Amino acid sequence: MFSQRELERYKRQMMLFGNEGQEQLKKSTVVIAGAGGIGSPVALYLAVAGVGTIKIVDNDMVEQSNLNRQILHNERDIGKKKVDSAAETLQAINPDITVWAIHTTIDAKNAKSLVGNADGIVDAMDNFPTRYLLNDVAIVKKIPLFHGAIRGFYGQATTIIPGTSACLRCIFPKAPPKEVFPVIGVTPGVIGAVQATEVIKYLLNKGELLTNRLFIWDGMRSLAEDVRVEKNPDCEACGTKKERRQKRK
Ligand SMILES: [Zn+2]
Repeated sequence: MFSQRELERYKRQMMLFGNEGQEQLKKSTVVIAGAGGIGSPVALYLAVAGVGTIKIVDNDMVEQSNLNRQILHNERDIGKKKVDSAAETLQAINPDITVWAIHTTIDAKNAKSLVGNADGIVDAMDNFPTRYLLNDVAIVKKIPLFHGAIRGFYGQATTIIPGTSACLRCIFPKAPPKEVFPVIGVTPGVIGAVQATEVIKYLLNKGELLTNRLFIWDGMRSLAEDVRVEKNPDCEACGTKKERRQKRK
């Protein structure tokens, strides 16, 4: 059931998917790993769309140098925990959703419980080791993972539905070297909006997802393309050969 305020708020999107679709969004829980450049637009768009529960996880504090892209935070948030600043912004923009702010570093010990029984996991991280961790938890728990990554004017996104599509390790078996990379805020804006679109479509069970496709954005050329990717039978996370090996044991 929706309040008058919610009905008014969601009026224009309920033209697309009705009361039923809006209910679907309201009863969903999405975990966003990262409250930075990518996490900001993803969280904002999921919040305004009315995704009922958003769990946002980050271990950082807001710094001045974040503000060229991390649009959940503003000048007054410097020094605050990013998740607290994120929760304040999200609740101010939509008081009808629940936001969980979890200030922690995602690691092998806590990843599973942080994800819980969410309906989707958004990879809004800035490093591959944590991405692989989220990927592996997504596969074990059979929860979709919405990947996004950026560098400069370039970005990429893909959607992983465990069991049916290529996983992050199938597509990127080796992590790129860790670095402090350049970034302009519009790039995570584009990629985060793509990821949020994927989450919404998945929750509504509508449209065609970015499964087995890597979406690539080149902002300098204003060019978007998608590249076919395939499940690797030898993949250490989702490979069928691995499943056979485990069954034999
Ligand atoms: Zn895989």
